[in-house]
Amino acid sequence: MSTIEQPFLKNALAGVMALEPYSPGMPIDELQRRLGLTDIIKLASNENPLGPSPLVKAALAEHAAKGNVSLYPDGGGFRLKAKIAEFHGIDTSRITLGNGSNDLLVFIARVFLGPGRKALFSEYCFAVYPLATLAQNAEAIVAKALPPDHPRMPYGHDLDALAAALTPEVSVVMIANPNNPTGTWVEAAALEAFVAKVPASTLVVLDEAYIEYFEPSLKPGSRAWLDRYPNLVITRTFSKTYGLAGLRAGYALSHPSVADLLNRVRQPFNLNMLALLAAEVALGDQAHVAKAVELNRSEMVRLKTEFTALGLKVLPSQANFLTFDLGREAAPIHKGLLERGVIVRPMASYDMPTYLRVSIGTTAENTRFLDALKAALAA
Ligand SMILES: *Cc1c(COP(=O)(O)O)cnc(C)c1O
Repeated sequence: MSTIEQPFLKNALAGVMALEPYSPGMPIDELQRRLGLTDIIKLASNENPLGPSPLVKAALAEHAAKGNVSLYPDGGGFRLKAKIAEFHGIDTSRITLGNGSNDLLVFIARVFLGPGRKALFSEYCFAVYPLATLAQNAEAIVAKALPPDHPRMPYGHDLDALAAALTPEVSVVMIANPNNPTGTWVEAAALEAFVAKVPASTLVVLDEAYIEYFEPSLKPGSRAWLDRYPNLVITRTFSKTYGLAGLRAGYALSHPSVADLLNRVRQPFNLNMLALLAAEVALGDQAHVAKAVELNRSEMVRLKTEFTALGLKVLPSQANFLTFDLGREAAPIHKGLLERGVIVRPMASYDMPTYLRVSIGTTAENTRFLDALKAALAA
């Protein structure tokens, strides 16, 4: 690339010039190319280690056999929306479909953020919130998280700090519950009390990408809040428990007037026909979701026990990953794991340079990870 500044760059939006691109988990192929390894496991992007439901695989295979891809997909997502509406017991006018829930966060930013507007979120929040905000040339207000030595929820969202940062200029506040990259969560009653405090002119986005993994007693039941708070938006995804990350499907539940606006900025065919089909079938197989959640629960107990035995501190998590402290620079251990064919997520870009985040895999994958971790620590 030329080192001479191109004249047109001065017309690029300042927010875009300022943003750091999202760094995704390293793809298996890339590590294969780089190190010539063959037996690689990826525990870096919180995907479902069981893959999608067998019913989804069958439906996709049947569709592929027909090769019927020449027609545009249903731009309105009629069938999927009907399934989602039935699943949640709500009207389809409250649903917006997204190419992953990331898409919905971008729609929300497009509709409600712009120059002079502010978005509020916590430290250690999902990396997409500042990205979507800056891309709109809006300002990011970052509330302090709970401190690293907090007895109950280190690095967790501090709802009081978020509430204190609410001003009339804040048009959107975004909270992931449970949160990624920490796994931490906010308690249901406290969260509803927070939502109730948010001015009616400010949108509250509850990003529930990991909601299915919550212990039943901790599930917030936020869907019922939609009737009480017209400024509430809930986002859900098929990427995590449903095992469809590669196809891209998510949705938002909101007041119909919000859904109407989000649908105006959506590209007409934002979900492809395979994503629509797979999501529809996946939603119908709740037994598969339950299986993934159960595997996650038992393996999380095991991984936590092993971390403790290794003297490593782990953040509390209600999600499908664990974020742990090596008590020293994590980069060499990250590298050591890569060399042993195990991809996890470094946390340096989140300003947590001594931490790594590992997605909970199958029993065999977790054993591989633990063996590699022990070897990397001893190296
Ligand atoms: C994974 C994740 C999502 C989902 O992203 P998709 O675009 O639906 O794949 C959303 N929010 C958080 C916090 C996540 O970790």
